[in-house]
Amino acid sequence: MHKRILVTGGAGFLGSHLCERLLQSRHDVLCVDNFFTGSRRNIAHLLDDRSFELLRHDVTFPLYVEVDQIYNLACPASPIHYQLDPVQTTKTSVIGVINMLGLAKRVKAKMLQASTSEVYGDPTVHPQPEEYWGNVNPIGFRSCYDEGKRCAETLVFDYIRQHRVAAKVVRIFNAYGPRMHPNDGRVVSNFVVQALSGRDITLYGDGCQTRSFCYVDDVIEAIVRMMATDRDTTGPINIGNPKEFTIHELAELVLELTGSKSKLVFQPLPYDDPKQRQPDIRKAKEALEWEPQVALRDGLLKTIDYFDDLLRKGCGLNAVQT
Ligand code: NAD
Ligand code: UDP
Repeated sequence: MHKRILVTGGAGFLGSHLCERLLQSRHDVLCVDNFFTGSRRNIAHLLDDRSFELLRHDVTFPLYVEVDQIYNLACPASPIHYQLDPVQTTKTSVIGVINMLGLAKRVKAKMLQASTSEVYGDPTVHPQPEEYWGNVNPIGFRSCYDEGKRCAETLVFDYIRQHRVAAKVVRIFNAYGPRMHPNDGRVVSNFVVQALSGRDITLYGDGCQTRSFCYVDDVIEAIVRMMATDRDTTGPINIGNPKEFTIHELAELVLELTGSKSKLVFQPLPYDDPKQRQPDIRKAKEALEWEPQVALRDGLLKTIDYFDDLLRKGCGLNAVQT
């Protein structure tokens, strides 16, 4: 059924793919973004679609629109970006979600909150099931993001219990793919850009820390399925690829797929960098009949094509805001 759908953070990496997907399903999409890390380039191909509307707006301020569904994705996601203005990061998660939940309550919209595996912090339970409460430093450099997202989850569940808002939470694990910000310091974009431009590949620590990488198409499929569930399916539900790689393995694979001669260099591990991360996705399999379809090798090839094209055009490599 045709719906009016608000996507906050719609000009970002995941948001732009989500807008595209919702337009393909013939919905009207209102993309709201303050362009802190998002870019017009990500949504340029959607601007001529009559079902697509773009609004420059900061979600820390109230928004009065009429919609049927809200996907709340607004928030910088990479450590470099969310630590640039940590107070604004917490405000975006906490005040932003209050505004979106308030909107959902007023117009009786369904809402999906994009949470994160960072709510588990540096996990002592492996792989991480949704029941695990996490191991998060409340006062560190990553806390603005981790604790902001945890508080956002608290608010979602209080609005569900107190105001009967039909809201849901997905906890997204490391996602990658075309339209990642080329300069945001995340490992996949860093390694691919470094390999393609012949620069050293920067491994932080000894490279033995692990992550599980989920291709963007798989993430979008999961969150659209989550939105389609009934109001009792609130989550939180882990969305990610359970196949776990060391950062060293990722670097070797990027070198192989790009044919690059870049050297691996070791640099200090950032503060509070989680040592391992792997989602337990049993809940997503059961509730959403979903599991990732795209292997890391295949997703990386598409990501490499994207960055190769971007580098040839000389786009956006030096700017945080593009
Ligand atoms: P991104 O930085 O590419 O996108 C975030 C978007 O939100 C950007 O377009 C940015 O300009 C916008 N934004 C930031 N603050 C805003 C504000 N105050 N008002 C309006 N817009 C604002 O990041 P992404 O990777 O696309 O992540 C999208 C969401 O998914 C985020 O909420 C993030 O926490 C979550 N998430 C992403 C990952 C991942 O691996 N990419 C993992 C876990 C969770
Ligand atoms: N990392 C790395 N080299 C880089 C960028 C990141 O070794 O150039 C490491 C980083 O220390 C972390 C992992 O890769 O252990 C994933 O980092 P990212 O910032 O992508 O995501 P997050 O730490 O939020 O999972």
